[in-house]
Amino acid sequence: MDPIQKQINELEHEVISLRREFHMFPELGFAEFETAVKIEHYLRNIGLTTKRVAGTGIVSVFDSGRPGPCLMLRADMDALPIKEAGDLPYKSKNEGVMHACGHDAHIAMLLVASKVLKTNKDLFAGKIKFVFQPDEEVAGAVKMVKHGVLENPKVDAVMGLHIWSLIPSGRVCISSGVVMGGLDVFKMKVKGKGGHTGYPHEAIDPVIAAASIIQSVQAVQTREMDAQKPTVIMFGKLAGGEKSNIIPEEVYLEGTIRFLHDTDPDGPESPSNRFVRICKSVCQAHQCNCEISIEHENIPLVNDEKMAGFARKVAADVFNSPDIIDAGQYIASEDFSEYSSRIPGVFIFLGCANKDKKSDFPHHNPSFNIDEDVLTKGVELHVKGALEFLRPV
Ligand SMILES: [Zn+2]
Ligand SMILES: [Zn+2]
Repeated sequence: MDPIQKQINELEHEVISLRREFHMFPELGFAEFETAVKIEHYLRNIGLTTKRVAGTGIVSVFDSGRPGPCLMLRADMDALPIKEAGDLPYKSKNEGVMHACGHDAHIAMLLVASKVLKTNKDLFAGKIKFVFQPDEEVAGAVKMVKHGVLENPKVDAVMGLHIWSLIPSGRVCISSGVVMGGLDVFKMKVKGKGGHTGYPHEAIDPVIAAASIIQSVQAVQTREMDAQKPTVIMFGKLAGGEKSNIIPEEVYLEGTIRFLHDTDPDGPESPSNRFVRICKSVCQAHQCNCEISIEHENIPLVNDEKMAGFARKVAADVFNSPDIIDAGQYIASEDFSEYSSRIPGVFIFLGCANKDKKSDFPHHNPSFNIDEDVLTKGVELHVKGALEFLRPV
């Protein structure tokens, strides 16, 4: 066992108890007040300085004192509005809030990585920027970028990882190109003219227009987009009307457009622009008006080819085998894309599924849990990634 691996393995108990502590006290996006204080406390205790960014975000720069590039290591901090199921001894104590995506583990792994790197200053040249980011679930990275997280010192490359229950423990997924999807959120009002259901000809029915919209936009996925460019349009909310015999004035719809390809979200070819065109045309056909707002919540996450190659090399070393590395893409979205669209970046999926340990529930499920045996591997990916990227020449 190499000395770094040995040092990390000795901290296994610490990384597990940190993860459990964060798991017990989850906080929602931009309300990670206690979480932020605990992170600051830990970093200051090991002799690092901290700076607040965008409210609850924390940045800590560790300078080796030798010239070299600046690598950013990022962990997200927020939990979800989910009531935790089961009765784990470290179950959430904040009713209705739960770390159901693994961000508790991300904080713990990066904190312990910072501790290990702090004691190995002689092994690298350049700077490491540890970033603890709020509100990943609603694109908090945008705010971090606006508040200058990539500047001062200027970041040259970024690395991040996500605990992933779709992959078995002991395996990782590292690909280049698009690895996670873009996400646009739409809200729409279809406006007609209310009336009596006995006399629909006197009214303009927004219900039939809405039904037609739901059907028609499916053609974006199946007829307009290249089959090699996965696109998923889903309606998550449909509301309208008060009573069985009244034609309502309007129907309200909400949903998501996800796409696993690097298409300009504002360009004419984008799924959202095609979606809007069809919605408007269908409304017009039914004599309705429609108001549509589209919010680009996440751009697709694209891994830089060189950075992905570098990460594969590091992962092969961490797991003592290149055979544990899979390639793959996931259509869920991640605001890490806000960093990797600006500087070369790599996002690694760290498998944590183990049926026997019940750590194979999907992310965002009330029973979501992780296999804590993989935590030291996550720490090692951060540490060895930084040491390899910042290797003195
Ligand atoms: Zn999530
Ligand atoms: Zn997540």
